[in-house]
This record gives sequence, C-alpha cells and structure tokens, in this order.
Amino acid sequence: MDSAAVPEPAEVAGGVWSVALPFPNPLGFAFSYVVPAPDGVLVVDAGWDSDECWDAFRAGLAAAGAGLDDVVGVVVTHVHPDHYGLAERIRASSPAWIAVHPAERPRIAEGEHDRVRAIEDMAEWLHQAGAPASEFAELDADAADMRSRISMVVPERDLVDGQTVPGTGGALVAVHTPGHTPGHLCFHDRQRRLLFTGDHILPRVTPNISKRPQSDVDPLRDFLGSVRKVRGFGDVQVLPGHEWVFGDLGARLDVLLVHHEERLTEIEAAVGAGAGTVWAVTRAVSWSRPFDKLRGRARRSAIGETFAHLYRLAVAGRIQWVPGRPDRWLPAPSRTTGEQPDVA
Ligand SMILES: [Zn+2]
Repeated sequence: MDSAAVPEPAEVAGGVWSVALPFPNPLGFAFSYVVPAPDGVLVVDAGWDSDECWDAFRAGLAAAGAGLDDVVGVVVTHVHPDHYGLAERIRASSPAWIAVHPAERPRIAEGEHDRVRAIEDMAEWLHQAGAPASEFAELDADAADMRSRISMVVPERDLVDGQTVPGTGGALVAVHTPGHTPGHLCFHDRQRRLLFTGDHILPRVTPNISKRPQSDVDPLRDFLGSVRKVRGFGDVQVLPGHEWVFGDLGARLDVLLVHHEERLTEIEAAVGAGAGTVWAVTRAVSWSRPFDKLRGRARRSAIGETFAHLYRLAVAGRIQWVPGRPDRWLPAPSRTTGEQPDVA
C-alpha cells in the first residue's frame, strides 16, 4: 500500500493548526495540533522522532505564528511512537512540560531491561496464542525495531478523566478513552466545539484493539465504552491522529460499533467451527489483506485483535476460555439445552 501524501500545515478551526508529521506506515503521517493558549500554544500529540519530523514540526509551529519558546505544554493521546516521538525534543527546546494519562506510564520503559522484557513478554504471548515456530523467527527479526519503539521519555504531569488541561485557560478538558491503549486520552474543546481523538476515532481506519502481553484488561469492552462515551459530545469537529479532520462523529461511531459486533459474530462462528487457539482463529477470519501477506507488527496486531475479541466473547459467556499454553477456546455449552452444540 502506498503511503498517503503528507498535507501542508493548515488552520483547521479558530486558530488551531494541524501539522502532519510523516512516519513509516501506510497511514503516511500523524497529526500534531497547535492550540492557542493564554501564554503561548499547547501541542496535542508529538509525531514520530526523526529529523524530518522535527523540521516539519517547527515549520508547522511557524505557520501557526508560534515558535518553540511559545510551547507551554505537550499533551499526548497515548505513548505510541507516532504520537509521542518528538515529545522529548520539544521539551528540551522549549519551556514545555509533557502530560499523559497515568495508565500510559507502565508502557514507558524505565531502562533497556524493560525493553528487553517487552520482547520476552511478546514471545510468551505468542506461545499462549498457539503461534507456530515461524512467528518466533519473525519476532526475533523485528526485535531491534520493536525495542526502539518503546519510549523511555518520562512525562512530568498526569492528566485524568475530566481534568482541565493546565495552561489552556480552561479551554481543553481531558477525556479518558481506554481501548486502543489503557491510558488513551481525547481532548474536548467546548468553546470551539472540537474533539481531538488521537487513535480512538479515525475517519476511515478502525483502530487496532489488541489484548497485549501481560495485560489483564478487557480492551474491547473498554473501547466500546469509550466509543459510547464520546457520543456524549454531540456535534463536534473531529481532529484525529491520522487521515483527515471530519464531522458527523455519530455516524462514525455507529460504523465502529457495527464493525465490532460483526467481528464478534464472525469470531464466535470460527470457534464454533472448531478453531481452538488465537492463532487458528486469526487464520480463519478475514483481514483487510490476506493474513499470509501481513508481516511482523501487522501480523501481531491481527493476533492481538483476535485475542481481544475472543476474550470479550468469553467474558460475555458466548464462548469458553481454557487458559493454558496455548489457551484453548471452545463453544459455550448451549444455554437452552445445557448440551454441547455440534462442533465440526
Ligand atoms: Zn497512531
């Protein structure tokens, strides 16, 4: 897939500027937003860490009529490298602090040992999923890249649900929207009727909802709750982390809810047809590209997405989960007869 063309900085609403920062992904770029504040500007999300992005970020600030000395703070929707990569460069070159939701902090490495452990945890997670030896070879090949994507930049501030973002004169409020990550935040600007959505809501792509290694959360339940939560903001302009600015949030939320309901039904049927591990179910269901064509991180995203749906189905009593190495997934005993349904 070709990457999307990177747009020029643009004023999207009432003095708020979007600055597209390229990164190596079919999405092509991630948006940083420059938001006017009483004593300068606030930055929402901080792009990919590269010299190219750094130059593009400073050019975007200049287009918005600001410089690095004006940046009072950097708030990030989540600490993935396409949203958090430049945070340290901005902090080092400006008066800015960095703020995240506290549930993102466990995803920030305290040292190289944490990065190494993340790879080990991923390998154990693949064992649990029932992945074949070829997947472990793929993980080994990706290990250096994976390690480099785990940030060690420690923010100095926390932002929790409903909290006003400091330095914005009350204009921006943090909204906790777990799902894509446990500490994902959106930011609501009531006066300008804007919602900064990071990767929680994108106009075309369905955000990856993965049950990750060493995680005891139900990410799909959290995500669906977060979808319903942002519906409460009504008629807003949506400023997402990728793709394009859009309106009609409600229509997009409906599509996402239907998508996951269909996905749950498809995955429940795969278990009913005899797919008994995360790996087997991942291979049995449809993807935007054939599963065998997905490589590395994209494959692990597909595995994590399947795991999230299986876990949700098990918690809801629609299938059975037998934890192990690998985990086993079985049809639920029939609720009406108390008998096992026929399994092909
Ligand atoms: Zn992203």
